[in-house]
Amino acid sequence: MIFAEQTPLELKRPAQVLSVLLIDDSPIVAATLKKMLRDSGLLLHCCFEADQALAMIRGVRPAVIVLDLVMPVMSGLELLELIRIDAVGRDIPVVVLSGQIGSEIKANAFAMGANDFLSKTPDRLELLARLRYHGRSYRLYQQRELMCEALKQTAKQLEERNRELKRLSNIDGLTGVANRRYLDESLASEWARACRMGSVLSVIMIDIDYFKAYNDAYGHLEGDLCLQRVAKALEPVAARGGDLLARYGGEEFTLILPLTSLQGAMSLANKLRQKIYELRIPHVGSEISDRLSISLGVASLTPKNRQSCDELLTQADQALYIAKGLGRNQAVAFE
Ligand code: GH3
Ligand code: MG
Ligand code: MG
Repeated sequence: MIFAEQTPLELKRPAQVLSVLLIDDSPIVAATLKKMLRDSGLLLHCCFEADQALAMIRGVRPAVIVLDLVMPVMSGLELLELIRIDAVGRDIPVVVLSGQIGSEIKANAFAMGANDFLSKTPDRLELLARLRYHGRSYRLYQQRELMCEALKQTAKQLEERNRELKRLSNIDGLTGVANRRYLDESLASEWARACRMGSVLSVIMIDIDYFKAYNDAYGHLEGDLCLQRVAKALEPVAARGGDLLARYGGEEFTLILPLTSLQGAMSLANKLRQKIYELRIPHVGSEISDRLSISLGVASLTPKNRQSCDELLTQADQALYIAKGLGRNQAVAFE
């Protein structure tokens, strides 16, 4: 038999109602407690069969459990052991209700997770005070847990947002490749790594030929679309781990190639030139072809004392200048 008692006072103050689950095979004890808890702000649920207790705990979610020690089928201590490993019951305060018992049983009950003891016919004031104390403590504990969980969630969301912001702050808005800021950062760290390891670092400066004329002929919006197509075509060619394609600015791109020799970088530069040429983007404004082309300057350095990575960029830029002078649509290595 299961019954619940809700007094008018509790209905007026639902937020403060604390549910108490009595697990006791005796209807007399249930009736006594029911009487004592009347108008107390404590809502009594009763479970008369120990093997129903876990199901009731999950259903009622009490703020405090009052547990009889001597029951048929299962003893109070056996049940307590089950409550303490149950996902819902594990933290709920348990007040053991018992007649005369020895200190050994008491010690056992505490060791198994009981929180308090009350004699079988408790004093009403003492009963209410203890149930309220344990019930409120448990509710506060639950609130703290919820707040902790919410805080953890917020922290996780913030972390994700920060990661996304950081990612966005490194990306060029038009083309989706790395931006100048990220290029500078990466070049500095790859340079430092090359210094430490005594390894070679190459860069390729890429510049679209006659791009001003492209804008003049097709409009600035078409020019933007063209930059996006070029970036999309260049990106997969340099796909080795550590390679980085970035928009240097305007219609210029830079490729950083760690652990790549001048010869390797030149071979890649020619592939890039070929790839763009084969996009067959019409370019009526070009003085050298009927389609869009790029010029590339390639430089390679194994860092020596007091050199800076600016030197590598300057060399690549000079090679690019020569490529332009030699008629564009070609890659030139800095010698
Ligand atoms: P060269 O072959 O010598 O490189 O000639 P060029 O016309 O490509 O070089 P120049 O430096 O004279 O002009 C670059 C042009 O690139 C001018 C500018 O309008 C255009 N440009 C730069 N950034 C953007 C952009 O974000 N979108 C578009 N549509 N055009 C851009
Ligand atoms: Mg330019
Ligand atoms: Mg140009």
